[in-house]
Amino acid sequence: MFESLQSRLSDVFGKLTRRGALSEADVQAALREVRVALLEADVALPVVKDFVERVRDKAVGQEVLRSVTPGQQVVKIVNDELVEMLGGAGAQGDSGTGLDLAATPPVPVMLVGLQGSGKTTSCGKIAVRLKDRERKKVLMASLDVRRPAAQQQLAVLGQQAGVATLPIVPGEPPVAIARRAMTTGALEGYDVVLLDTAGRLAIDEALMAEVAEVREAVKPRETLLVADAMTGQDAVNVAQAFNERVGVTGIVLTRVDGDARGGAALSMRAVTGRPIKLLGVGEKLDALEAFHPDRVASRILGMGDIVSLVERAAETIEAEEAEKLARKLEKGKFDLDDMAQQLRQLTKMGGLSQLMNLLPGTPKIQQQMKNAKIDDKMVKRQIAIISSMTAQERRHPEVIKASRRQRIAAGSGTSVPEVNKLLKQFADASKMMKRVQKLGKKGLARAGLP
Ligand code: GDP
Repeated sequence: MFESLQSRLSDVFGKLTRRGALSEADVQAALREVRVALLEADVALPVVKDFVERVRDKAVGQEVLRSVTPGQQVVKIVNDELVEMLGGAGAQGDSGTGLDLAATPPVPVMLVGLQGSGKTTSCGKIAVRLKDRERKKVLMASLDVRRPAAQQQLAVLGQQAGVATLPIVPGEPPVAIARRAMTTGALEGYDVVLLDTAGRLAIDEALMAEVAEVREAVKPRETLLVADAMTGQDAVNVAQAFNERVGVTGIVLTRVDGDARGGAALSMRAVTGRPIKLLGVGEKLDALEAFHPDRVASRILGMGDIVSLVERAAETIEAEEAEKLARKLEKGKFDLDDMAQQLRQLTKMGGLSQLMNLLPGTPKIQQQMKNAKIDDKMVKRQIAIISSMTAQERRHPEVIKASRRQRIAAGSGTSVPEVNKLLKQFADASKMMKRVQKLGKKGLARAGLP
């Protein structure tokens, strides 16, 4: 999967990262190529537009970290946005299915999708994985009463896989089969019941109604839409239709082994809002993989080294700043200059939430900051207030009495209450720092400092 996209993007970013400085025009040109490459990979147009826009917004006005080139930083942005587009950095385990089975057993899991999408095969693959890697006792049941051989197909698959299937009762309607599967599951101590619903060649109302009825009857914990990656954007449309009509919790993308472009995989999350959970990568029962957006992104970009380089650089800077502050704390010195520097750092880093992590503060204090509606505009005003103080005032705030407060307010274009508030905040922060200091090194770590 993704072969052509991979080679296109590595060309684009290969050129970009070799350059020392980047102009906005360089970034624009690169993004034009990214756009074409994504469209050629059959990614849905709105998804491509959104993606390129987000990368552009982040790339422009990014502060370049020391020890990395601007091009490298752009690669990192593209990587992060790709991960986001693919579903975000999930916490999926390596070995298992990543399915949510947190309910009283037997946990019903329903598979839906068009005929020929690989539903039955995927049902068997998931059963094997649950059995072998998650130590689950699994029961499979086919609800496909239209295709004569469908129920037998699942029974045969069950035998191959060493997984139990619900005994076939001829003429039984789908909802009744589903209910019987759940009863059997409960009576015989199964952990998971996999329900393989009927498919059609195309989406029709009867199919949707049947699936919706089964869903009402058993209330599945997971409803997995099985879609064929080779069908590209059709797979995405099918997923969207199922999601709107019956509600889908995740997607199993099959025939990924034959899909060179990867458009379905790339647009699925953005269009449907549902995550891809598993990939079918062959006909055999063990040809199933967990879907990891971060790994897929790094495979597409082929630039894992650069991404981790930029991550390390960012971490180093954060660590350096925190260390500087920690040293001050140890000496028991924290004055308004330090506070101003922290505030400036905060605006440079582009957000208050970032600094919250740097400031020694418990979650409670962070919440207080939120409640106090401290936003970035306010931070700029606070910096202005501190800048209007004399050096002596900054080092010894206790000298700032009423007339000085008036002068500072006038000088910074703010008001006396605002100056008061800042001084109060500084006093609170100093008090807190002293407390942190008493706790010693261990306390620092607990308070969120390295
Ligand atoms: P269903 O009608 O949706 O139940 O589809 P089936 O499970 O019967 O699968 C249809 C065909 O697709 C079978 O020949 C499967 O072996 C094949 N198939 C299913 N999943 C994959 C996959 O991930 N890769 C490949 N190459 N073939 C698959």
